[in-house]
Amino acid sequence: MRNEEMKTSRFTYKFNQEGATYLYNSLTGLDSVMKVYDKNLQEEIRNHLEGNTIEQPNPILVNLLKEKGYLVDGDTDELKLVESKKQKLLTDEKLTLTLIPTSGCNFKCVYCYEEFKPIMMSDKTIEDVVKFTEPLLKGKKVLFVNWFGGEPLLALDIMEKLTAALRELCRTKKVAYFAGVTTNGYLLTIENFKRLSACRVIDYQVSIDGLKEDHDRLRCLKNSKGTYDVIFKNLKRISEEITGNRFSISIRCNCLKASKEKREEAETIFYENFGNDKRFSITLHAVMDWGGDSVNSLRSELLTQEEEIDLLTEALRDKSEKRMKKLTHLNVLDSRSNSCFACKTDNYVIGADGSIYKCTSDFGKPLGNVSDGRQPEEWYDISKQTELKEECKDCAFYGACMNTICPKALKEGKLMCPVEKDCIDSLIGSMGKEYFNETLPGLYVYRKE
Ligand code: SF4
Ligand code: SF4
Repeated sequence: MRNEEMKTSRFTYKFNQEGATYLYNSLTGLDSVMKVYDKNLQEEIRNHLEGNTIEQPNPILVNLLKEKGYLVDGDTDELKLVESKKQKLLTDEKLTLTLIPTSGCNFKCVYCYEEFKPIMMSDKTIEDVVKFTEPLLKGKKVLFVNWFGGEPLLALDIMEKLTAALRELCRTKKVAYFAGVTTNGYLLTIENFKRLSACRVIDYQVSIDGLKEDHDRLRCLKNSKGTYDVIFKNLKRISEEITGNRFSISIRCNCLKASKEKREEAETIFYENFGNDKRFSITLHAVMDWGGDSVNSLRSELLTQEEEIDLLTEALRDKSEKRMKKLTHLNVLDSRSNSCFACKTDNYVIGADGSIYKCTSDFGKPLGNVSDGRQPEEWYDISKQTELKEECKDCAFYGACMNTICPKALKEGKLMCPVEKDCIDSLIGSMGKEYFNETLPGLYVYRKE
């Protein structure tokens, strides 16, 4: 019999696919995912979740349902739990700074929205960044620097100088230091990769937009020369020559309408080159109108939201051997990983001239400058947005989303649901047996990699 004092969590999401019942709870996140093949256990789960009487409940199953958050005490106020989880997330112990060592770039991407004057961060600004960072480290355990541009690798020496200064600051404050970089990959040679590793860069995001002909059209050098071969060769050398697992490279593939037909072919090429390297994964994104004029030439080729969902659904459903890991999409199931850094209280983007922003797509009026020596102006304080939006009231995904996906959209009065929400069955269903432990015969529970 189900304990009368328990109720089913409002954040429970259940669906059936290919003979299995899948369960996911958005409040407990990725850890909660269960896949059940055993028919009796499927039936018992259904009864537990519907609050039906069960003569002889399986005690291991009941414990699992409680532990993973599917059954909660009857008087639990789950929205209050989400609110406190959200407040904790906004003021957590990690400070993320997105630093732009140069606003210059060696590429002229067709969809690029940045219109900065190409400048390099000066020694004076480096000093000011460090001074600005010092008080922000109070109460933090980790400083994570996200190098961004322009193309940050054009300013590798500046990255090294700033890293040395920030690591020294972290050493005195007993704060751990890590970094990631968003780079076009053209300068990501073995030599530069080693220099970045010495700067504790562990996360890499590199864009390759599908097949060579498409990539070279979208992501070319200033002189219109293609860049695919150089980037591919750089990544290949890293995969072959760098040992150790202390880094991950996410290949971001920006897609247009035509990408739908070409996805499989492009993915096979990625798979054949990086599929056996666990440090590599791929994410698919629609090219969007991120601002600026240059995207106008692509307007008729942009995917609609439905087309983007279709493309991702197909990619996730693809069970062929030759498919790349799409780990980053799975992160959406976890609130900690899917929130944008811009929603956090004291996380900032700092431009090459020291200008302070919150969001890498909101480079309008800066909120201040690191040379000011005072607090930047407030941007959009998500911690004050406590009222549940009408659209979110019945959304089982709220426990993970918490309206923290894109604060810029909220600031503009729009609601940003992650695209994965609309193909969540395919997303969870794409998790192969390597993600699970068999806890009971026919019942598999997510295990961390
Ligand atoms: S923003 Fe979208 S995904 Fe998030 S809770 Fe609201 S409806 Fe759900
Ligand atoms: S607020 Fe939105 S647009 Fe800005 S960085 Fe975050 S996700 Fe991107």
